[in-house]
Amino acid sequence: MRLLSAIDRQLRARTLKLAFESELEARFEYDTREKRVRDIRYTIVLGMVVFHVYNVAGFVTTPDLALLNVGLRALAMTPLALLIIWAVGRVTGPVREAISGIGMLAATGIPILIFWMGTGPLVSLTTATIWLSVLFANITLPLRFFWACFLSGITAIAVAAGLYLKPDIAAPVGGVLGLDMMTGILFSLVATYKIEAANRRDYLVNLRESLRAKRLAEDNTTLAHLSTTDPLTGIANRRAFARELSEFWEASLGGRHFAVMLIDVDYFKLFNDHYGHGAGDTCLREVSALLAKTAAGSGAFVSRYGGEEFAVLMHTSDPDEAYGVAERFRRSIAEKGLIHGNRNDHLGFVSVSIGVATSCGPAATAVALVEAADMALYEAKGTGRNRTCHSGKNGNGEGGPTRYVAAAQWSATERQPVAKTG
Ligand code: GH3
Ligand code: MG
Ligand code: MG
Repeated sequence: MRLLSAIDRQLRARTLKLAFESELEARFEYDTREKRVRDIRYTIVLGMVVFHVYNVAGFVTTPDLALLNVGLRALAMTPLALLIIWAVGRVTGPVREAISGIGMLAATGIPILIFWMGTGPLVSLTTATIWLSVLFANITLPLRFFWACFLSGITAIAVAAGLYLKPDIAAPVGGVLGLDMMTGILFSLVATYKIEAANRRDYLVNLRESLRAKRLAEDNTTLAHLSTTDPLTGIANRRAFARELSEFWEASLGGRHFAVMLIDVDYFKLFNDHYGHGAGDTCLREVSALLAKTAAGSGAFVSRYGGEEFAVLMHTSDPDEAYGVAERFRRSIAEKGLIHGNRNDHLGFVSVSIGVATSCGPAATAVALVEAADMALYEAKGTGRNRTCHSGKNGNGEGGPTRYVAAAQWSATERQPVAKTG
């Protein structure tokens, strides 16, 4: 998977860069967008509440500008914050982050303006308001690292210039305040970087785990399918038959009886000898498709038992019904008329012989039941092939009278060979 390799590459890369490769970045934005928008909105609401508390602080630090301060916060910043809350969910990721960064610059710009315009001995206290605003932007929101640097840089320059130029602030005091602010901003920027890097890394690790789990589940489904499917014919294989047989047997112990049919292609070795192994394979595919088609909708389970043998399981407690269904299978093959010009009996088309046994008979185990069906198949072979035999009342593999033996000789109901095989 391309995405998995991109994740591995990204996790291995020892880079300080916070952006991913473009495909991964797009996926990151897609997967995290909803939460990011929600976070920004809630955090802005929290920020605005605290922001308005500082209306009161303005009356203490710069009383002459207190009304301007309140006006800017209430009439400029509040509508802008509401606009940002509305807009962040409606724009692309980069625009959303830019809006957040510029919004925070506007919010920080108000105390910077008051600081610049303010006079008096307490004006230096407004610098705390400014860098608290930067801390909020860099750690609480937090802005993306690029925008955090942008906001921090402009703020640092604006405040440092003010501290230097304002006559009300003595140079040593300005120096200490400037140092405090720079340190605070620097610490917060380190935190911004670490938060974003950790978020991105956690995202990658989680995405990798979920993609791996998904792939594992898909592989397991494929493996389960492969392990129970016959590769030549695409129908269930012997392993699947064994599993179904034990389930059918379990059900029969509770009274839900079933029949086993063993279906063997007649004179198939001679078919291979005459038409080649490739044509033999095609023939087996045709036979399995016909069996599956005949079984469709009946609930019967069709599988390839091995070689040119097929096995069918179907729920029934009526041997007559089982026999009737087996005959339908046999006829479906015979009537297809796949040419077989190398039979000992010169019948001319591909046919099958079928042995049937039902669980309501005397078989004591599932294996004994299959053996009984095998005995019946043996009987069908011995009595001329292209026919169905049902295991006798002693159908547990120990012989006994055969209950059904239907001779199915070439008849008017079975069409002359039409299809060419090989
Ligand atoms: P009978 O009527 O008594 O069943 O005779 P038969 O020739 O069908 O039975 P036999 O067991 O002698 O031969 C079975 C043949 O089936 C031999 C084997 O080469 C062939 N066969 C088994 N599996 C495959 C397969 O996957 N593809 C092909 N083409 N032939 C297969
Ligand atoms: Mg065979
Ligand atoms: Mg055979």
